[in-house]
Amino acid sequence: MQYSTAAFEKEYTYEGTDLGATWSPEGTVFKVWAPTADWVQILLYPTGDPKNREVLQTLPMEKGKRGVWTARASGDLNGIYYTCHARVERETVEVCDPYAKAVGINGHRAMVIDLASTDPAGWERDRDPNGGKPITQAVICELHLRDLSVDPKSGMTHKGKYLALTEKGTHTPGGESTGLDHFCDLGITHLQLLPVYDYGSVDEAAPDRPQYNWGYDPVNYNVPEGSYATDPCRGEVRIREFKEMVKAIHDRGISVVMDVVYNHVYHRDSFCFNRLVPGYFSRINDRDEYSNGSGCGNDTASERSMVRKYIVDSVKYWADEYHIDGFRFDLAGLLDVKTVRQIMAAVSKEHPNVLFYGEGWHMGTALTRPDVSLCDQGNAPLVPGFAFFNDTIRDGLRGSVFAADAPGYVSGNGELTGAVADCFRGRAFWCPKPAQSINYVSCHDNLTLFDKLTVSSPGAYREQLIARNKLAAAVVMLSQGVPFFQAGEEFLRTKRDARGVVDNSYASPDSVNRIQWGLLDQPEYARVRDYYRGLIALRKSSPDWQMTETSQVERSIFPIEGLGDRVLGFWIRGREEWCVVLNPTNREVTLNLPQGTWELVVNEKNAGTAPLGVFTRTVQAAPISAAVLRKQ
Ligand code: CA
Repeated sequence: MQYSTAAFEKEYTYEGTDLGATWSPEGTVFKVWAPTADWVQILLYPTGDPKNREVLQTLPMEKGKRGVWTARASGDLNGIYYTCHARVERETVEVCDPYAKAVGINGHRAMVIDLASTDPAGWERDRDPNGGKPITQAVICELHLRDLSVDPKSGMTHKGKYLALTEKGTHTPGGESTGLDHFCDLGITHLQLLPVYDYGSVDEAAPDRPQYNWGYDPVNYNVPEGSYATDPCRGEVRIREFKEMVKAIHDRGISVVMDVVYNHVYHRDSFCFNRLVPGYFSRINDRDEYSNGSGCGNDTASERSMVRKYIVDSVKYWADEYHIDGFRFDLAGLLDVKTVRQIMAAVSKEHPNVLFYGEGWHMGTALTRPDVSLCDQGNAPLVPGFAFFNDTIRDGLRGSVFAADAPGYVSGNGELTGAVADCFRGRAFWCPKPAQSINYVSCHDNLTLFDKLTVSSPGAYREQLIARNKLAAAVVMLSQGVPFFQAGEEFLRTKRDARGVVDNSYASPDSVNRIQWGLLDQPEYARVRDYYRGLIALRKSSPDWQMTETSQVERSIFPIEGLGDRVLGFWIRGREEWCVVLNPTNREVTLNLPQGTWELVVNEKNAGTAPLGVFTRTVQAAPISAAVLRKQ
């Protein structure tokens, strides 16, 4: 493959920062990287609708160094749509600009844009409200935009739209907070949005047809998704509304994390980059097939210089233009270490507080060069500023994701006790330090926590299932590392259709995926939410739950022995002194306390920072519960 030769890399690696359309009131400069094209033109259009074929103007492009083609148009082109028209490998193609900053309906055509005109009032003063804190002070909640608001009892007006996150004072019929108010009350620091870049699986032209997708099918990497905008036809609307959303979240003290999916694209053959430079963006194996480690039909060749640049430029753009405070990388294990390090270096230069984490699963992929390290858990020491989803604590607490009926530690599986003990101290076997561990028991993938507990514990009472849920939450919130949960876990989220629980709801209807806010009007659900809120408050109250380094853990956290089979206990001697008992058994456990007076702050019913009782000598941990005590 010619692209993989050193000569090609040397000849055609472009380092400029001006690919795409650069607007000014006097004129717009277009630059397109297409080193193997015979010719390239820019076609200007009055609309973004591909059915309207009226071309305003054809701009021939001139080939310059490094495979970059350039055209200039004078006058104010803000709001004019355009495509790249090229002859490549004996084929004529017309595609959206891979560097498009704005697009029309369904992302077929790019749009020239004056980005400053999309800034909401006060945007220049908008900042990450949690900037300057280490990642272990974050409490991350994962949310799909549509799930947030579509429920009839959400109390929100802008159902399924970016603007739902700008609404204040929303509540259930019974008066319980919903939407952004709910997440503020809960105390989270970071809201992670499932894909909000322009993806392909929802038809933006059919807003009234029932459609749903998580959005792991990127089409235009540098543009917000249109179906979440009030008008997907006008390129500037989705940009403005996206920024309004970010600002509204920031104004409430919460940072915004984007789920980014650079490891594969929606359609490898129709992806605009691959059409302009055929096959360059994607890995191909030695049988000439697309590499498929992602399971989505194509793996991104991040190790190629202009793919790496594209990804680095894209992440930096979201941080610069949209004030994004963190990036969750889908299947980071398919991206190469050098690319991830370059992303972090490029973004951190101007945004030193941005968080980076992702899925570090080790996956088979056909690299285009042999000398490449992948960004998976095993290579965590090579990317010290990057955190990984911790499947050890996830599967340890709730049971394996690969067998629905496999119980975890909280459901009585004693074999996982050691793994949970390691993870409580931020010491999963693959993890170099707590700051690289994203601790969780639920995310959009697989069964929800409550469904998993239900399926893996046939015959259990509902009260037992709720107790196990609360115990799992206590472990996630109080383990060293970074707590993370799927929105709705905090009130027993379930995803069910007529056939039962749904373990992969990526294209399931709203009825399965929506957050069912009305449940909060029932005391059983509200109590679980209150328990989560208390755990989060406790976690945020002391640096003892937020250690970043293994050396801190080793000199501060000690196991308590002798509590009996499957029961875990820890002394924490940090800024304060704490005792933690994790009791997944059906028996009450007695802990002998060291000298002094101890305040109980977490028991089977309540969690928080206020004392629930004062103890000397001994304390009991109820069946299936966590107990946490703080020395007076
Ligand atoms: Ca779209």
